[in-house]
Amino acid sequence: MQFAIECNTLKKQQMCLICHHPFQMGAARLVVCSNQGDSYGDVCPECISRGGSWIGSQLRQIQDAMIPN
Ligand SMILES: [Zn+2]
Repeated sequence: MQFAIECNTLKKQQMCLICHHPFQMGAARLVVCSNQGDSYGDVCPECISRGGSWIGSQLRQIQDAMIPN
């Protein structure tokens, strides 16, 4: 799993992939995608402000939850 910063021109409401709170997308968006390039969703500015390593650990937990045992 990886994340990418993308420019955003649309003003629309998104659900944060990590904290599940709705937020208004700003000029830049952080998009989480798989290594194959499939987009999982957006991360809100509040979670982005916690830093890359925190986001990385959250994404690992999400990824673990996605993989069936
Ligand atoms: Zn969030």
